[in-house]
Amino acid sequence: MRNRSELSYRGRFAPTPSGPLHFGSLVAALASFLEARSHGGEWLLRIEDVDPPREAKGASVGIQRTLLAHGFEWDGEVVYQSRRGEAYQSALERLIGAGDVYACACSRKRVSELALPGIDGPVYPGSCRGRDAQATGALRLFLPARRVVFHDAWLGRVACDIERECGDLTLKRADGVFTYQLAVVVDDAEQEITHVVRGADLLTSTPRQIVLQQALGYPTPAYLHLPVVLDARGFKLSKQTLAAALVDAEPLPALRLAGLFLGLPEIAVGGDPQAWLRTATRLWPEVGTQPLRGRKQARTSACR
Ligand code: GLU
Repeated sequence: MRNRSELSYRGRFAPTPSGPLHFGSLVAALASFLEARSHGGEWLLRIEDVDPPREAKGASVGIQRTLLAHGFEWDGEVVYQSRRGEAYQSALERLIGAGDVYACACSRKRVSELALPGIDGPVYPGSCRGRDAQATGALRLFLPARRVVFHDAWLGRVACDIERECGDLTLKRADGVFTYQLAVVVDDAEQEITHVVRGADLLTSTPRQIVLQQALGYPTPAYLHLPVVLDARGFKLSKQTLAAALVDAEPLPALRLAGLFLGLPEIAVGGDPQAWLRTATRLWPEVGTQPLRGRKQARTSACR
């Protein structure tokens, strides 16, 4: 892997091992891979097992096997969030030291009674602001009233009123588990990720991650949020909606469909997923990014 001064593009794929990879995950893996490789960049793999009870048995190993079967090769060692507690704790302590964190004693039920609907569940109104971070409860980051605006390479301008639409962010749950938001921000910074390509289901997380990056003094990567793949009933393909697992023995049909979903043409290469990916990488700047340009649209709020 190259050091920071040589780095112009470092992307990543960061699956949560709550089940096997499905077609929706393949689209995210493929787009992040093609963007990285067509920029001559690196592509890292991070297993987001920050909440071990959510991990399906054998999923971490299965995900890596499926990626390899589909021709993907990542740079460097795989990073596991379950092994990174010290890094998350030290980031948390910096935020506590800066006076930005308080302990929230509200139960989930209490939060839902107090909260107004937001872009990603109830918006906590900050009732425990003023409690000490050393007290018991979940640790929350105080989010000041401000508008976060960023440019998304697919969606264009995205803006979010962070206090009204998101509310104070949980960094560590009362049961001691670090949250996805804290883990992803610390990992993206420490792995020196320059570009994040992921599904638009995570768009509502991005303004919160940007505020957290700023609070920790980290740079903000470039973002590209992909259209989400829906099933025939209009639901996002996910482990919860029991999306079918990818078939390791038959990578090309799935790669072909993922390529078509992303705007690539049919690619005829016999039997070899790595050859398919090489051709797709060559075509991506010419063809694959056309729909990105065509579909750009201004968004006034991440919630609409
Ligand atoms: N772990 C998340 C998922 O599997 C992706 C997180 C990210 O790309 O930031 O949906």
